[in-house]
Amino acid sequence: MYRSNTCGELRMANVGQEVTLAGWVQKARKMGGMTFVDIRDRYGITQIVFNEEVDAALCEKANKLGREFVIQVKGTVAERSSKNANIPTGDIEVIASTLVILHTSDVPPFTIEDNSDGGDDIRMQYRYLDLRRNPVRKNLELRHKIAFETRRFLDEHQFLEVETPILIKSTPEGARDFVVPSRMNPGEFYALPQSPQLFKQLLMVAGYDRYFQIAKCFRDEDLRADRQPEFTQIDCEMSFVEQEDVINLFEEMIKHIFRTTKGVEFKEAFPRMTWHECMRLYGSDKPDIRFGMQFVELKDLTEGHNFVVFDSAKFVVGICAEGCASYTRKQLDALTDFVKKPQVGAKGLVYVKYEQDGSLKSSVDKFYSQEDLKVWAERFNAKPGDLMLILCGDNADKTRKQMCELRLEMGERLGLRDKNKFAPLWVIDFPLFEWSEEDQRFYAMHHPFTSPKAEDIPYLESDPGRVRANAYDLAMNGVELGGGSIRIHDSELQNRMFSLLGFTPEQAKDQFGFLMDAFRFGAPPHGGLAFGLDRVVSMLAGLDSIRDCIAFPKNNSGRDVMNDAPSKIADAQLEELFLKIDLANLNKK
Ligand code: ASP
Repeated sequence: MYRSNTCGELRMANVGQEVTLAGWVQKARKMGGMTFVDIRDRYGITQIVFNEEVDAALCEKANKLGREFVIQVKGTVAERSSKNANIPTGDIEVIASTLVILHTSDVPPFTIEDNSDGGDDIRMQYRYLDLRRNPVRKNLELRHKIAFETRRFLDEHQFLEVETPILIKSTPEGARDFVVPSRMNPGEFYALPQSPQLFKQLLMVAGYDRYFQIAKCFRDEDLRADRQPEFTQIDCEMSFVEQEDVINLFEEMIKHIFRTTKGVEFKEAFPRMTWHECMRLYGSDKPDIRFGMQFVELKDLTEGHNFVVFDSAKFVVGICAEGCASYTRKQLDALTDFVKKPQVGAKGLVYVKYEQDGSLKSSVDKFYSQEDLKVWAERFNAKPGDLMLILCGDNADKTRKQMCELRLEMGERLGLRDKNKFAPLWVIDFPLFEWSEEDQRFYAMHHPFTSPKAEDIPYLESDPGRVRANAYDLAMNGVELGGGSIRIHDSELQNRMFSLLGFTPEQAKDQFGFLMDAFRFGAPPHGGLAFGLDRVVSMLAGLDSIRDCIAFPKNNSGRDVMNDAPSKIADAQLEELFLKIDLANLNKK
């Protein structure tokens, strides 16, 4: 037996007991004739004491211990004379009688402490050492708990966990597929699933009624803080349901997860807002509603005052930042620089200060009188002390997106984006299609299997842009936690959809023939959704990046810097797959 107890277990009640502990040396320090060693495992830290006077040889051995040595210690639990209230084992210590070094350790490249001295890169390179640190371990423990409570909830609601394949047919579903060459079928490729979408729909045709899977999904996209090339979804599908059923059940699931893993209670039903309202009021389909600052449109008020910038713009929009009229020139310049950043892309920023004395001071005083600005202030519902920030542009959608960035920035500056506050919002009535300026065609906003609202079906061909979908997302604190839709279960409507999306009947048959075949054999009405597990965990853990809740994440270029993947493969492997690297083109890149 390597150990009788873990390093986080012993308390006053154990005083006098003979115990054996095993773990890593957190630190060792010599004080007079005593050597104190903190021994650590996943469960905690216990102080071990070696006394020179009692056993000089043993103490000598303890003095040679380095950080991260793996040791086994036998000894007696004793009450500490100076207690440490910061750790649960802080009332006791173990007076050592034997010490076995199970494994030595090189000096770790960074300190294994809560606030490590290691930078991001080095911690990723030695991720297994980083994983020893409390903050990272806590995130993974939370992740486990969330996955566990998800399974418990879904099991209690008759969901069946079914694994779907990882090697599947490449079907364009939005993002780029990762592909895997097939040795047994040379010249052909599998794709890794972007989601188990088609399989879960087939499981509904198969009569499984309620399916879920905590599924690895793969998308070959450019990475951001909340994206990884491989990520995990809580993927669900249900038969004989309408949008309302899906929303209600999964709202319960999210409430269950928040309650059981973090003690967060949502007393009210989650609010809902249509996609159009979200865009109009927040310029985003995943608005952060922890704070107000809704958009106010001003074009009609700004016109005809010889201010060319506003007059020539098609759209003028603003927000009101409460209590910010005292902003200095420097602060306002910083905001102007912010909106002019290429990532935001605005040309400039107009401000109006509602001074405490009731007067209005703006960057456009030359063009607008006090009375004009008063009318603006009324529309903003502004009070003395507030600051109005205004952007304009030719494209309303673009200008709203810029304003969305500014609003979030102001929220951040004013401390309104409190990590301990959770503001869920169901976004409903998404458009079915999204117009691409670049390709001059419509794409499915969610995916091609999403059903249109019954009352909008007559406009599918004549006015696709106005067709709303039975699609819904759950946004929280400005993050899309998940989303889904009620599916098309009728082959004829599905074929219409494919043709609207530009598939020829042959292409549709080639890509989705198996689904269309299945629909000939009795498809029940069905719908579902998927939550990003990584995003749910980082939301609950208050993390800025999903990377911190993934055991072995990739960096921003999609690399695993620990094992250096992706990597070249041997010529023999390439030959076996009948593949050749196009070196000439590769070198041009
Ligand atoms: N497959 C969808 C997604 O990954 C979720 C769904 O529609 O259920 O976004």
